[in-house]
Amino acid sequence: MTSAVTAPGNTTSTSPARGLICRACSAEYPLAAQHACYECFGPLEVAYDEAALARVTRAEIEAGPQNIWRYAALLPAGQDPATRVTLDPGLTPLVSAPALAERLGITAPLWVKDDSQNPTHSFKDRVVSVALTAAKELGFKRFSCASTGNLANSVAAHAARAGVPSIVFIPSDLEQGKVVTTAVYGGELVAIEGSYDDVNRLCSELVETDEFEDTAFVNVNVRPFYAEGSKTLGYEVAEQLGWRIPAQVVIPMASGELLTKVDKAFSELVEIGLAEAPEGGWTVFGAQSQGCNPIAVALHNDTDVITPVKPTGIAKSLNIGDPAAGPYAIEAVRRTGGWMDYANDEEIRAGIRLLAETTGVFAETAGGTTVAVLKKLVDSGRLDPAKETVVYNTGEGLKTLDAVASEVGPTHRIKPSLRGAREAGLLG
Ligand SMILES: *Cc1c(COP(=O)(O)O)cnc(C)c1O
Ligand SMILES: [Zn+2]
Repeated sequence: MTSAVTAPGNTTSTSPARGLICRACSAEYPLAAQHACYECFGPLEVAYDEAALARVTRAEIEAGPQNIWRYAALLPAGQDPATRVTLDPGLTPLVSAPALAERLGITAPLWVKDDSQNPTHSFKDRVVSVALTAAKELGFKRFSCASTGNLANSVAAHAARAGVPSIVFIPSDLEQGKVVTTAVYGGELVAIEGSYDDVNRLCSELVETDEFEDTAFVNVNVRPFYAEGSKTLGYEVAEQLGWRIPAQVVIPMASGELLTKVDKAFSELVEIGLAEAPEGGWTVFGAQSQGCNPIAVALHNDTDVITPVKPTGIAKSLNIGDPAAGPYAIEAVRRTGGWMDYANDEEIRAGIRLLAETTGVFAETAGGTTVAVLKKLVDSGRLDPAKETVVYNTGEGLKTLDAVASEVGPTHRIKPSLRGAREAGLLG
């Protein structure tokens, strides 16, 4: 896994990762395509050499490329630019949102981290770049995933750029906008008559077959590397705020992984002295839809045991009924004094429109969910309106046009003449 090549802009050329560690029992394993613990079947995550992380400086990061690879020294793969499988995602805008803050009754600065501005228009480009770079370093010959939509787009696009074959698995009821934006890259696209959870289960079986021995499923056999890509959404926000961690963050949850990794990124930055924690620490909030809310419901019921659900509703990119990182998301939210909530389809549509009208950012249903939950958290007093807050928009509205297509349209329809304009009241 390690590389001795020194790359321009990167003074660290070897991976700071020391191995994989079980999130449940802390058993350690070498870096490899392994995602479950042999001792307890718990999920594995990347463990780092603390001394290697501690050597990273702000100046080094700031001198790096204008994308996620500026944080290569904090990631498990891709230290050598020549090995990267990437569309160079990241450094997406952190948009100041005073009008949204005012509408919600938030008095402190409010920011939207707009990750729809990535190459395939969702935050998934971050996780895919890291996972497929690790996959290439580990010698895999074909790229794959089980997807709720955005992951499929991103894996297909990355495979096309790298010239590596891909085979992507999706539920057959996915939005047209996500099917087309995956299929266009020319890889194999398998629509499965079932839910995402069925797709994921099938992929877990396929990965064990001889025919798929050479295939990296970004969120199955190389999942520990995939998950680390999400940390860059934490690093970037801190860097964009001048190396400060915001007091509150609101994050959409599907598997719950993104939420845990933003929290992990903040912890790492503080531990290695790169960023300052806010007074009293940061607080993490999670957002789900009412049609798929198993993590939030577990928190509300004061348990860590997630009861899987059969997802419904328009927030399809978040529709994971049996969320793998759910218990860890609950742990992060509890530890930081946060909360989780969920929004129904009507509230999600209203969230999309409110965000668009107040910031100029057109989010997909996941972003609408997060904004709707932000509103609920303010209204219920769970989120402090006097503390700086960052809300994450993780995907692009053009991919889920149907969500709001029946609610918005031309405000006037007129004949092409001044008379037409006058009759419509446009000339007073
Ligand atoms: C996948 C996805 C998420 C959440 O991902 P998890 O890490 O599985 O919780 C959020 N928003 C969008 C748009 C996504 O595609
Ligand atoms: Zn274990």
